[in-house]
Amino acid sequence: MNIYRLAVLSDNYVFVLHDPETNTAAVVDPAIAEPVLAKLEELGADLVAIFNTHHHGDHVGGNSALIKKFPNAIVYGGEKDNGRIPHQKVFLRGGDRVNFGDREAQVFFVPGHTYAHIAYYFPAIGDVGGELFCGDTLFAGGCGRLFEGTPAEMLNSLEQLRQLPEDTRVWCAHEYTLGNLKFALAVDGDNPDLQERMVAAQAMRQRGESTVPTTIGLEKRTNPFMRWDFPAIQRSAGIDIPDRVFARIRGQKDNFS
Ligand code: ZN
Ligand code: FE
Repeated sequence: MNIYRLAVLSDNYVFVLHDPETNTAAVVDPAIAEPVLAKLEELGADLVAIFNTHHHGDHVGGNSALIKKFPNAIVYGGEKDNGRIPHQKVFLRGGDRVNFGDREAQVFFVPGHTYAHIAYYFPAIGDVGGELFCGDTLFAGGCGRLFEGTPAEMLNSLEQLRQLPEDTRVWCAHEYTLGNLKFALAVDGDNPDLQERMVAAQAMRQRGESTVPTTIGLEKRTNPFMRWDFPAIQRSAGIDIPDRVFARIRGQKDNFS
């Protein structure tokens, strides 16, 4: 499975998955259709699946135009997004499995950013590593805003993702990394891995490179929203009860600039 990252709108990423054996393609969270259609044309591939993580317009905006061109493509989304995702055919719950090419993805139910949010995890096979498509749940250095969920729900969602193998590549849906790391340093400034990451990320952005994908291991070492049980984060939050730590730092981030 080859993964192509398309940068669209102001800071969104859309991912085109291509299976060279069958020359079929899938797309994760098509914010808009045109760049996806151009990529499919370049590959000469048939679109068979749209994997949506949640209903927001910058994740499903391209669904209708893609289905118009590829009417047989199947639209997947969370069971609780019923009615909110255009052309949705399959309603997934945590623990479900979906196939693409020679890979099988496990579905995680990860509410918090929205109440219906799901993530797609393709486990490693042989020497090919695992891939996680997590929409607006986990970001490089941060996490999604809590529009429809509680801190406890988001913490539980991120706890599920924290248990994935450290070398899992994390394909999140926005390039928010520098802003996220700036906040991370405000709450975990003595963390040498985080300091090093900021320097590396700034250099990457200056070269015009993407900071996505990241990895689960890097997020566990440097992302404050994956570190609610670390002393430095608890000190910044002024509390050591996990849900409350999470709520405090999420609230601080909402008001951070
Ligand atoms: Zn969103
Ligand atoms: Fe988004």
